[in-house]
Amino acid sequence: MAGEPQADCLFCKIVSGDVPATIVRESETTVAFRDINPQAPTHILVIPKAHYPDAASLAAAEPTIAADILREAGEVATEEKIEGTGFRIVFNTGTGAGQTVFHAHAHVLGGRGLQWPPG
Ligand code: 5GP
Ligand code: ZN
Repeated sequence: MAGEPQADCLFCKIVSGDVPATIVRESETTVAFRDINPQAPTHILVIPKAHYPDAASLAAAEPTIAADILREAGEVATEEKIEGTGFRIVFNTGTGAGQTVFHAHAHVLGGRGLQWPPG
């Protein structure tokens, strides 16, 4: 069923606690944890506890949870003290855009200058 945990999904295992992660925030519907391979001084992933393969399918099925992801991304930026210097919220969507984990997630990146347009 849509949103149900998937046995072969890494981020579902982080939600369940079967795979450890450095969790920085949790809400009823979301978890935020440090990326294992950070691309900036602050690099945190905000994910829904429910399994959806990408941000667009999450937003189509559960718009309030998609909004929760954005709110939590903002809270993370405040906690990490990167809101003043600027930060980026990224949803890689599809293999061609660099998505490697097919459980929706926002990257929150900051703590250094960020190029635009991104690569
Ligand atoms: P994507 O490439 O799908 O947009 O982002 C997936 C992200 O998950 C990558 O930045 C990658 O470093 C991160 N990642 C992959 N495996 C793990 C893991 O086991 N733990 C954590 N904390 N991050 C992971
Ligand atoms: Zn999942």
